[in-house]
Amino acid sequence: MTSPGPRLVLLGRQGAGKGTQASMLSAHFGIEHVSTGDLFRAAAAEGTQAGLEAKRYMDAGELVPDDTVIRVVEERFGDGGPLEDGFVLDGFPRTLRQAEELERVLVAHPLDVVVDLDVPTEIVLDRIAGRRVCEDCGTVYHLNMPPREDWACDVCGGRVVQRDDDTEEAIQRRLELYERETRPVVDFYRQLGRLAVVDAVGEGEEVFERIVKVVEKHLRSGPA
Ligand code: ADP
Repeated sequence: MTSPGPRLVLLGRQGAGKGTQASMLSAHFGIEHVSTGDLFRAAAAEGTQAGLEAKRYMDAGELVPDDTVIRVVEERFGDGGPLEDGFVLDGFPRTLRQAEELERVLVAHPLDVVVDLDVPTEIVLDRIAGRRVCEDCGTVYHLNMPPREDWACDVCGGRVVQRDDDTEEAIQRRLELYERETRPVVDFYRQLGRLAVVDAVGEGEEVFERIVKVVEKHLRSGPA
């Protein structure tokens, strides 16, 4: 039997590269990528009531209420699969209450490491302003690094567009909320001895190698 994959959380401000790095980690370790932003965007595209409600918060740059987020994550983990086999969480937890709830769910399967992707403000602002995403599979591009053909996704052929919540006001609001609501989550994991801060400036591949190194180090030394 193969051993289960790592259980990871990626933290970092908007534009730090969580989505891109989480996809690469998922492929590398053969673990599930769970992005709450992607779950909400998919629910909104399907037009479910929860999805449409979440979209109102997202478009304004506000956080979706904790109870809704926790319900959606619990549903995603419902069959226990990712809990046993490993996962990378992207965009969750974002508040202390979500982090505490996650600890409760993971009692029997503690996180291996929480990676905080560190990027200065000027760089995240530039990355988000130029960010374009595939509306079908969520692959992330940038104005400086577009898909090969006419804004059709290299991976699935879907339309590559600007996200509805990547407006200047919504970005400002999300960055403020990150400092207020998510910075305490970083401190929470630091106190638990699970946090690893990784410099996320540079090419995607370089940052990826730094993250893999940190994850492997934590896997060798066992859960904190
Ligand atoms: P970003 O990190 O750029 O804000 P995401 O795709 O992770 O992008 O999230 C988009 C939006 O989805 C957030 O602004 C928020 O409205 C909502 N969202 C995602 N995850 C959470 C969460 N854990 N708690 C509350 N709201 C969330």
